[in-house]
Amino acid sequence: MDALSILRQTFGYSEFRGEQGDVINHVVSGGDALVLMPTGGGKSLCFQIPAIARPGLAIVVSPLIALMQDQVDALTQLGVKAAFVNSSMSFDEVQRVEQAMRNGELDLVYCAPERLLNEHFLSLMSRCQLSLFAIDEAHCVSQWGHDFRPEYVKLSVLHERFPEVPRIALTATADQATRNEIILRLQLEQARVFCSSFDRPNIFYQIVQKSNYKRQLKAFISDFQGEAGIVYCLSRKKTDQIASWLNTEGVQALAYHAGLPALTRSHNQSRFLREDGIVMVATVAFGMGIDKPDVRFVAHLDLPSSMEAYYQETGRAGRDGAPSSAWLCYGYQDVVLRRQMIQSGQGDESIKRLEGHKLNALLGLCETTQCRRQVMLGYFDEAYDKPCGHCDTCKEPVTTWDGTEAAQKAMSTIYRTGQRFGVGHLIDVLLAKDTEKTGKFGHDTLSTWGIGKNLTANQWRSVYRQLVAGGYLQVDMEGFGGLQLTEKSRPILQGKASIQLRYDAVTSTSNKQIDDSVVADPIWEALRAKRREIATREDIAPYMVFHDSTLKEMIMKKPRSLSQLAKISGVGQKKLEAFGAEFLEVIAEDTGNEVLNEQPGLSATQQETLLLHKAGCSIEDIVQQRELSSSTIYQHFAKLIEQGLLVFEEVFTLDSAEIGQIMDLFIQQDEELKKVKPLYQAFDGLYSYELLNCAKAEFNRLRLN
Ligand code: ADP
Ligand code: ZN
Repeated sequence: MDALSILRQTFGYSEFRGEQGDVINHVVSGGDALVLMPTGGGKSLCFQIPAIARPGLAIVVSPLIALMQDQVDALTQLGVKAAFVNSSMSFDEVQRVEQAMRNGELDLVYCAPERLLNEHFLSLMSRCQLSLFAIDEAHCVSQWGHDFRPEYVKLSVLHERFPEVPRIALTATADQATRNEIILRLQLEQARVFCSSFDRPNIFYQIVQKSNYKRQLKAFISDFQGEAGIVYCLSRKKTDQIASWLNTEGVQALAYHAGLPALTRSHNQSRFLREDGIVMVATVAFGMGIDKPDVRFVAHLDLPSSMEAYYQETGRAGRDGAPSSAWLCYGYQDVVLRRQMIQSGQGDESIKRLEGHKLNALLGLCETTQCRRQVMLGYFDEAYDKPCGHCDTCKEPVTTWDGTEAAQKAMSTIYRTGQRFGVGHLIDVLLAKDTEKTGKFGHDTLSTWGIGKNLTANQWRSVYRQLVAGGYLQVDMEGFGGLQLTEKSRPILQGKASIQLRYDAVTSTSNKQIDDSVVADPIWEALRAKRREIATREDIAPYMVFHDSTLKEMIMKKPRSLSQLAKISGVGQKKLEAFGAEFLEVIAEDTGNEVLNEQPGLSATQQETLLLHKAGCSIEDIVQQRELSSSTIYQHFAKLIEQGLLVFEEVFTLDSAEIGQIMDLFIQQDEELKKVKPLYQAFDGLYSYELLNCAKAEFNRLRLN
C-alpha cells in the first residue's frame, strides 16, 4: 500500500502535515533521514508509515519504557502489528516477541538501546528482514543535553552491522549544536536533514507577574474545567502543597516529583494518562515521554531554568494541535533564585556562563514588550516575520514608561547603602519606612531616604526586577542576596542612557477558544463517557480510542452512519469497525435521529448517494450537492438497485408493461452477462443508457433472488 493510503485508511487522517510526506517518501525509498520537528509535529508517523509500507521489520529505538507501551497500544488499536521488548517483561513474554520477529509477523518492534546493543539481539536482528531503524529522541546522544544516555552513543554500531538498512533519527530539540552532535555520533553524514519550523501555532503564550500565585493559578485554571493540564513547580514541597490545595478547590490534581515512592509516581502518571481531566502538579522530573496528546495547558508557578527548558516544558501542551495555553507566573524572587542556583551549582565557570546566558534569554522573553513568539523563535534562529497575534503581548500590547529617573533612584539607594541589601530593605529606604534595620544602619539619614514616594512598594519591586533581569543590577551570591551595581548601570546613573520599563500585567489574558460551544454541548460529556467506558474495557488510555479533536468533530458533524463517521479526522478503518457503532448510538440518542444502517457491500460514496436519495433529493439535487456527474450517480443507483436498497420503479416512472418489455429483451439475450447496447438500439433510443443500466441491475436482482 502506498504511504497516502496508509495515512488515510490506517490512521484516518486525510493529509500529511508539514514535511511528513517528504520524509516518508524519502525513507520508504530507502534513504537515511534526520528529522527535526517540534513536539506535536507528528514525528511518529514519519517512521510508522515507512515501517508499514516497506517489507520487513522496523526497529524503533526509544529511551522510555512507558512510552513504548503507549505507542504499541495505540498502534495495536489501529490494527498495526507492533510489539515492544524491554526489561519490564518476563522471559516468556520476550521469547514470544522474538519468535514473532523471526517469523516475520511484525511490522514494528520498539526496544530500549541497551537491549538492542547486546549480542543476542544483534544476531536475532541479523536473522530478520529489516525494513528500517528509527532512533527516536535522538538528542539523547548529546552529552550537553539534559537527557544524555550513554547507550545512545553506541547506536552507531547499527550502521556498521547493517549498512544497507535505512535509518531515521528524530528529535524535537532545536539547536544547531545538538543537531551536529547527532549527525556526528550516529554517523548520519549522508542523511537528508528535514528541519521544520519550531513554532507551535496552537499554543497561546502568556507570562504574568507574580503577586498571589495561588489566586492567579486558580483564575487561570478556571478556563479549563475538566481538561488535563500540567502545573510545574520548582520544589517538591510546593508540588505537594499545590496539588492538595487544588483538590480542596475542586480541581482533580495529583503530584509528581522524584521524592515520591516509585510506585506512587508511576500510579499518578498512569492516572494522568488514562483518566480525563487530571491536573498534574509536578517538578521537572515529570518530563520527557509525557506523550499525552490532549494536555490543554502547561502552567509554571516558578521560572524554568532556561529558554530551552521553557520551550520544551510548555511544548507538552497541545500535541494534538488543538488550542492550548502556556502560562508562566514569575516575579523578582524567581530571578534571584535562578541566579543563585547557577552560581552554587556544579560545573566550571564556562558552564555557569552558558547557563547564565540561557537564563538571561528567558528573562528577556519575560520582560519583552514585543511578541513572545517572535522573541522565542528568534532565540532558536528562526525568523518569524510579524507579530503572531496569538500571545499575551500581541493581544494586549504592553505599555511602557520612561523609567530612567526611577532606575537612578533605585540604583543610588543601592550605592548609598553599600551594595549589600536586598530589595525589601531598599524599598523601605525609598519609601522612608522606619524599621529596626533602617534605624540600626542609620539609613534614615541618607539622601535617598524617602525619595521614592511617587511609586508604590509593588511598583518598586517591578523596577528592581526589570533592572536585575536586564542585567543593570546583579545579585550578590556570596552574601544574602544583596543587590549590586553592574557596568551597565553606570550610564544610567550618569544620565547618559535612558531606560524604558514595562507596566506589569498581573491578571491573565483569557484565551477561551471557539470550541467552547462544542464542549458546552451535553453530548460532549456523553461521548467522553463512552470513550472512558471503551478505554476501561480495552485497558487503554481514552485518547487511544479517539482524540478530543475527533470527538469535537463528531459533535460538529453529527454523523449518522459509519460512512459519515469514517470521514472524520482520526477515524481509521480499524477503529471504525471496532468502536464506530457505539459512538453512532451515542450521537443518535442525542439528536433523536436513528442510526442509518448500511450494507456492507457498498462503498462510502454509494452509501452517501443512498442517504441523499432517502432524504428526498432528486437526481439533480444529488448531482449538485455531491459535485459528481449524473452518470456516476446513476451508477450508484444501479448498484443500490441490484442490492435491493433502491426500488427501480421509484426512480423511473415506467408502468409494469414497459418494464416487462425491457426484462423480456434481457431474457432473450443468450449471454450470461447481459448487454445494454442492443436494448438501446431495439428501443431506438427511447430509454437512456442510464435507465437501461438500472434496469439491468433490477434484472440481476430478480434473477439472483
Ligand atoms: P511528536 O512525536 O512529533 O511529538 P506525534 O507523532 O505524537 O508528535 O503526533 C502528534 C499528534 O498529531 C498525534 O496526536 C497524531 O495523531 C497527530 N497527527 C500526526 N500527523 C497527523 C496528520 N497528518 N494529520 C492529523 N493528525 C496528525
Ligand atoms: Zn505574539
